[in-house]
Amino acid sequence: MDRSSRIKGVLAGGSDGWEVFHRSRAMIAAGVPVTELTIGEHDIRTAAPILQEMHRSALGGHTGYAAVPGTDALRDRIAKRAEERTGVPTTRDNVVVTPGGQAGLFAAFMAVCDPGDAALYIDPYYATYPGTLRAAGARAVAVEARADHGFLPRRADLEAAAGGAKALLINTPNNPTGVIYGRETLEEIAQVCQDHDLWLVSDEVYDTQIWEGAHLSPRALPGMAERTLVIGSMSKSHAMTGSRCGWIIGPEDIIADLIDLATHTNYGVPGFIQDASDYALAQGPAFEEEISAPFARRRALAQRVLSTQNVVRSVPSQGAMYLMLDIRATGLSGSEFADALLEDQHIAVMPGESFGAAAAGHVRVAMTIEDNAFEAALRDLCRFAEGRASRAA
Ligand code: PMP
Repeated sequence: MDRSSRIKGVLAGGSDGWEVFHRSRAMIAAGVPVTELTIGEHDIRTAAPILQEMHRSALGGHTGYAAVPGTDALRDRIAKRAEERTGVPTTRDNVVVTPGGQAGLFAAFMAVCDPGDAALYIDPYYATYPGTLRAAGARAVAVEARADHGFLPRRADLEAAAGGAKALLINTPNNPTGVIYGRETLEEIAQVCQDHDLWLVSDEVYDTQIWEGAHLSPRALPGMAERTLVIGSMSKSHAMTGSRCGWIIGPEDIIADLIDLATHTNYGVPGFIQDASDYALAQGPAFEEEISAPFARRRALAQRVLSTQNVVRSVPSQGAMYLMLDIRATGLSGSEFADALLEDQHIAVMPGESFGAAAAGHVRVAMTIEDNAFEAALRDLCRFAEGRASRAA
């Protein structure tokens, strides 16, 4: 039976970029000890009080169909948090709750793109982006943010791609690079969006993981609230990846459309998950800081390890739970390096190429294992890179 060209086009015949991850999981299943630094998954589990609230809510009967847009309480909580963080007036009518940020991204592009419309995204990118845009029917167009420009998009490149496009997707703090877009970059992006009448979809799921500088939501820039959809999630900020709870914040009319879409797709998010999310958000910034603290600590450890050698160079990591390492001095591509590191050292990292052409010659390291093991793995990685570099020389 033939399948739709949409579904066959999600990966556009390419790979999903997760080969090293799949191989390392297969090695682990075969009993080989592998140090896993691939996926953006915390090494802690969802905190017990959040699970107790989930349990209380479920036992209390919140197990039927929940309000499709999200419960009033959770939408109010998300709106209040957004308003406090950005200064942009926000009410529950600006919020729809989604089954995670990933579903929010898909829904956002369903809402802003017609089939075949160009949707721009920045390369390096979170591995699912192009497939998500294509699944929503859009034509995914990459705009490179080059390593020699600090992985920040340049206005001229955005301008060159923006003519006739419908939307631009950005992500700050950024996965995979760890870069945070500063005010100047965001103002340029806002100007391009306004000049070319683009929707801006701003993926801010790492907005609590800030190691340097500050997170600025582009929705707060003049003239942007009416053309910005912000993607948020409980996954990274509250170690709730498995709960599948996220949201979209945007103008009331498109949020109403997105609620109609939710009625015809996921039909809401389980009530007990929403109650637990509301409880988690009510714990405030101190709790969010506690969840992000291990990554801040490991980033400091990594900086110390990396300062002892000069083969592996770190891209300044300002936020998010990853390090992007430039391994070009080894003479290997990111994929060759990741393959050899897994083979030789049983350490799994993501090749930069999994995140686009602009990240070639890099690897992404997730800071998601216990501090001592993380430091040891990074030391082994550096020693391995030094060996390869001297072989290449
Ligand atoms: N955006 C980015 C940049 C991500 O890294 C992720 C998850 N790794 C997501 C969105 C989706 O997260 P979730 O669906 O768990 O909210």
